[in-house]
Order: sequence, then C-alpha cells, then structure tokens
Amino acid sequence: MSGTELAPFGAHEYLLALSRALSRNLDLGTVLHIVLEEAIVLLQADAGFVALRLPRTNMRVVATTGLPLETARAFEPLLNSIPQHSETADDTPPWWKQPALQRALLRVARRQHLPFTHIIAMPLEVDGDIIGALIAFRSSERAFTRYEERLLSGFADQASIAIRNAMLVRQLVQERERLAAVLANSADGVALINAERRIELINPALARLSGWNLDDVVGQPFEHVLRLENEAGVRLPAPAPHRDLVRQEGYLIRRNGTRGPYVSVVYTPLAQGRGMVASVHDLSERRALEASQRAFIAGISHELKTPLAIIIGYAETLLRDDVQWDEATWREGLHVILDEAQHLTRLVDNLLDAARLEAGGLQLRLEPVQLDEWLPRVLSEFARAHPSHHFDIALDGAAFPPVMADTGRLRQVVHNLLSNAVKYAPADTRVSLRLTYDDARGELIFCVSDEGPGIPLEEQERIFRRFHRVEGEASRTEGAGLGLYMARAIVEAHGGRIWVESEPNQGATFCVALPAADDNAPKRTIRIRPIDTTE
Ligand code: ADP
Repeated sequence: MSGTELAPFGAHEYLLALSRALSRNLDLGTVLHIVLEEAIVLLQADAGFVALRLPRTNMRVVATTGLPLETARAFEPLLNSIPQHSETADDTPPWWKQPALQRALLRVARRQHLPFTHIIAMPLEVDGDIIGALIAFRSSERAFTRYEERLLSGFADQASIAIRNAMLVRQLVQERERLAAVLANSADGVALINAERRIELINPALARLSGWNLDDVVGQPFEHVLRLENEAGVRLPAPAPHRDLVRQEGYLIRRNGTRGPYVSVVYTPLAQGRGMVASVHDLSERRALEASQRAFIAGISHELKTPLAIIIGYAETLLRDDVQWDEATWREGLHVILDEAQHLTRLVDNLLDAARLEAGGLQLRLEPVQLDEWLPRVLSEFARAHPSHHFDIALDGAAFPPVMADTGRLRQVVHNLLSNAVKYAPADTRVSLRLTYDDARGELIFCVSDEGPGIPLEEQERIFRRFHRVEGEASRTEGAGLGLYMARAIVEAHGGRIWVESEPNQGATFCVALPAADDNAPKRTIRIRPIDTTE
C-alpha cells in the first residue's frame, strides 16, 4: 500500500458518512451528484461520469464532473457493450477490468482532446443487474492501484443501492403523476375508497357529476357521495364489503340533494381488503339516444305503415270486381296512391341518406353559387307547391360574394327548413327567408322564420341530433327527426354553421351561415363526416 493511499480506517469512516448522506437523499439528481463527487475525492481522480441504463434506453451519461456532459456522451457507444447482468465465475476478467475496454475509453478521451492518462471503471450493480457504471479518470502519471479499486468497489455497492432507490422513487413519482393526469382527464368519475369505507380521493369528473368538491369530500363515508336512486326515487342500498366486482345503475343524487345524471357505478375491491375503487360512467347521453331510437322506431313504423295502408286500401277498392268505378274516382284514387308513394320515397331517401352519412359515404360536389340569385328560385319553386302559407324573401345588402356549395344538398337544407316551417306553423301564416352578408366574419347568412309555436330553449341544441323530435305538438306531425340532423351534417361539411333562435310562441328562426368564397374558386369534391351526436 503506498503512502498516498487512505488508511483503511479512514476509508471506512468515509464510507459510513457517505452512506448516511446517500440514505438521506432520494432525489436521483442529488444522489448522482453526491456519488460522483465523493468518488472523485475518494480516488483523488480528476474527472469522471456516471452512466445509467435508463428504462427503455441504452446506457446514458447522466452526471459528470471535470468534463462537460456533451463531451462525456462520446463514451456512450462503448458503454453499450456492458452486459446486463454481472458475469458468473469465469477466467476472463470482468468487462470493467478488460484492458481493451480501458484502452478504447482512453482513445475516445484523446479524440475529445481530454488529457486523461488513467482510467478506473466500476459497475453499479443491484442483485446481479448492472444498472450503470461509474468511470473516473486521472490526468497524472499515477495509475490507479488495486487498493483504490477495492475502495471504489465498496463504494460502488453503497452507491448502486442509493441510485437504485432514487430511480425507484423517481419511477414512483412519475407513475403517480401519470396516474393523476389520467384521473384528472378521465371523462368517467373515479373514487378511491379506503378500508374504513371512506372517500380517499375523487377525480374532477366525479366532482362535476356529484357536486362535491375535491377537498370537502375526503374522509366522507362513500355512501354519502355515491348515493343512487332508481326511477321511482327509491334509494339503492350501498354495496356491502365484497370480494367481487359490484355494478349499480341509477340516478346519482348530488350533494345538494337534487337528482343528477343517470350513471353506472362499478365497485372494484382492492387487494388485501384495502378498500375499493368506484368508477362512475354517465349514461344519460346513451339513454337519451336509446329513448329517441325507440321513439324513432315507433314513429317510423307508423310513418311507413300509414301510407302503405292507404295505398293498399285504395288499390284493393279500385280493383273490386263488384263495383264499376267512374273515371273521376279512378283518377282520384291513383292520385292518392301516387302522393303516398312519393311520401314513402322521401322517407326512405331520408333514411338511406342518414345511413349513408353514418357510414361516411356522402359526397359534396362544391361549386361557386350566388345565393342572392339561387335562393329566390328555390323559394318560389317551394312556394308554388305550398299554397297553404305566405312566403317572402329579403336580400339584405347590395353585393353578395358567392359560396362554395353542392346545390343539390343545399336545396335539401333549404327545403327542410321551409318544410318544417310549413309543417309546424299554422296555415295562412308567413314564412320569411332573409339573406345577409356579414363582411366582418366573411359569411353569408340566410334565415328561415316562421310564426309557429317555436322551440323551447332546452330543445334548441337537441333538435339537431338524429331522431330527436320535440314532445307534444311536433310529435303529432309526421317526421322522423332526421331532417335537421342531415341539415347540420351538410352545412358543417360546407364549413358553415346552423342554429335556431326562438322564443316560446314567437315562432322559430333557423339560420345557416356559409363562408364566402372567391368568384373563381375551383370546383371540388369532399366527403361528409357523420356528426358526433354524443357531444
Ligand atoms: P322532423 O321534422 O322530421 O321531425 P327535423 O329534424 O326536421 O325532423 O326536426 C326535428 C324536430 O325539431 C321536429 O320534430 C320538431 O319538434 C322541431 N322543429 C323543427 N323545425 C321546427 C319549427 N320550424 N317549429 C317548431 N318546431 C320545429
């Protein structure tokens, strides 16, 4: 042992002090810093670095002293030859003692213009897994001794454990952050319930659904927060402690006692009786859609059956052998049959259009259209076929830029708005079409106003959903609840907006805004995407 080496007792003390410093620290950056600085002092080295095998990556230099991090990166390719596990007994020296590796590392140092002359390397190893390496350099003539090697090896054991612990803590923190992000952004409500059946935490979605806030809720018995009742207002019993998954469905009672959304709650027990996790899924949208689909099927079968019954009735009557019908009766009968068949065709076309839209198979052939010339033509055509109402049109402005539109589909939108006006507003009332140009927004806006019953505020967004029809007066008229759904899909595919303005009993005004286009915009074809009706 040379005189410059530390006495064994000093080294022991030193390692103990280091171990205390390391065990007090769980932050990976700090631990790496302590390990590296102390190793350099212990070995009287001039520079060094720590490389770690980070999850899903190769060896990366994570801390340096006496040389810049970027320079140390040049050693990384060599470090990838370090095995994953420590070798078992064998004649060949372990990798960190192989002269070839040491020479190669020094060569890299020279290429980086680093004045290093001697090198010492040590694996960082936990339970046989090599998690990284500590490498130190000296620039002087003095080589590293066997004693220093042993010293570093004792030190590396301590350092490895401290680094592994800090890595685990960092992993845990990251997992926790990821979990917190998932919970915070989940659309479903989640509650963590402890073994005493009290709430430990809820996520923002559940706070929204239940009306509890994230702080007040902690420590509450879970059945105060997840209170469910059935359709008849009867409280559902809170699930008893259980080993299997339990699922309940009902209305969630909010903190203030009012009835909240219809939800399903799934309670999943945690291992070793540590409580359970409740996940709360809002079913109200799905139930509304199911209800409107049920109403649609009931409605559509009525819609289909009525004209068919009329057609069959007239055909059978006209074909009776025992009666001689005069020409006028024949003609009238055939007219009724034709009308009803045309009505059926329209209905089937609408259904097919909606089905095609769902499958993403509707296309728009866009071309420049002057609405100020086109709308009056469409309106007068429509007005001739509907003498029951009075129609007028106002063009608000002097010059109107064109819009890019598929005239066939846009006619369908205008017809739908006009037909609804005629269908829902009493005979002899006025239906007005008005076109304006909003220069600031670069939009052409046309609106159809009627003097009918109007649309309640809470229905104004829903009527654009498929199959949705307003209860009451409107549901006594024919219709499948598809017209406005199709209109919205078509308008939005044109890059436009559609909305309704209505005060109770003041009539309804449906407006469509379409972006203004250049006169010489080229024709093009685009595909309509179905609307997300669950939004
Ligand atoms: P449909 O008219 O075939 O039922 P729509 O999608 O065109 O389907 O309209 C959806 C619902 O919106 C209608 O059932 C009706 O309740 C309401 N509605 C639409 N237009 C008007 C209007 N002009 N006045 C009053 N209610 C309307």
